[in-house]
Amino acid sequence: MSHLNGAGGWSATGTCPNCGGEVDTEVGDQLLECGFCKSSIYVLPEGPLSYRMPADKEYLSERIFHLPYWRLRGVRFKVNRENFKVEGGLVDLTAPACEHINSAANLGVRPQACTLHLTSWPPDTPAATLAHSRIADESGVDRLYNEEGDILISRLIGEERVIIHAPFFLKEEGSKHLLMEAFPGGRAHSLSVEEVERLKGAIAEAPKSKELSFLALDCPNCGHALPPEHNAKVLLCEHCHRAFWPRGNAFARMPYAILGEIAESSRLFPFWHIDVEDEKLGIRSRADLLRWCAPYKVPRPEWEKEAAGFLIPAFKVNARIFLRLAKTATIFFAEEEHRVTPGRGRLLSEPVRLPLKEAMEAIQVALCEMTTDKERRVPKIAGAELRGVRARLIFIPFEPRAREYLHKESGQSIDRRALEVGATL
Ligand SMILES: [Zn+2]
Ligand SMILES: [Zn+2]
Repeated sequence: MSHLNGAGGWSATGTCPNCGGEVDTEVGDQLLECGFCKSSIYVLPEGPLSYRMPADKEYLSERIFHLPYWRLRGVRFKVNRENFKVEGGLVDLTAPACEHINSAANLGVRPQACTLHLTSWPPDTPAATLAHSRIADESGVDRLYNEEGDILISRLIGEERVIIHAPFFLKEEGSKHLLMEAFPGGRAHSLSVEEVERLKGAIAEAPKSKELSFLALDCPNCGHALPPEHNAKVLLCEHCHRAFWPRGNAFARMPYAILGEIAESSRLFPFWHIDVEDEKLGIRSRADLLRWCAPYKVPRPEWEKEAAGFLIPAFKVNARIFLRLAKTATIFFAEEEHRVTPGRGRLLSEPVRLPLKEAMEAIQVALCEMTTDKERRVPKIAGAELRGVRARLIFIPFEPRAREYLHKESGQSIDRRALEVGATL
């Protein structure tokens, strides 16, 4: 399977809840496909997915406990202060999720050298008391990448946030108290007596381990199997054409619309359609947005009354194509909406891999990319709080060509190779 061990992906194992078999998976993926009983299962964690790192054999006689780390992975978009250009690059980092470890002590590539296992919260593991936003907020990442001064805006989009439980043990060496990493290449961290007491207290009060919940990949409407798409946030039933997303302990219906007409060969690409209103910037209507981004185009009269809607790709592609598609789709895709009539055959779609919340976060950088008169407007956008007031999922039909998918009405295309690479981001 091409998605496994893609660029930077960490492989892991999980346990099939049906047959107990060991399933190969990838860190961050909510789908387990069991090779033994052939079932496809959607994992529903309480909070982020979490993975246990095994202790190295040489420490097996020690009293091992685990400490949580965040693993964050996504595309960081930044707007340069000098030339107002928007650029995107991959961010992949780990950082402690509790205060018992030095905040600079990341795991590096060590989790890749061992077999991670998808798990519920392991026993005796202190709670994740440090929010991921503390390390992954914009300024935190800017600090890590050492470029605070040059950046006007930066945003992490499409983040995968999981917990890695790393093994440790305590050791006394003379008068010294040491927190030892129990994995290959493990280091010793020196602790004060108070720090040791705090750590022991946190272990004693560790959250109770809860069983993971799972959902079978069956369409709640027609009973057919939902497509086993890895990393999908929304699942589209190919038979009854309804879309579902996990809500609580079940799949709930996700309404969507189709923009443009579907042919037999069409592949549907999902976009989040997000309406934005910003009084300060003066973007109140679709016509306003067009004046900002394509002043040479004459808006249709009715667009003065329509909301300013952004079309943000809900699938994963590389940063450059993501920005280009957000721009061209928002400005140029103005087709009629169609309803899908059930029973018209299979619907082929690109999976929704970018959650709505992440798409909302992308609006600001997308507007920087889209606007004309950047010198005057981009600093204003940086100071604005662009809020989505309404959002919904739409699918846009593209036609397959040899190397790409083509949106005929606008002439826009999506490179097939960019999708394969993007799926692993
Ligand atoms: Zn199984
Ligand atoms: Zn169905």
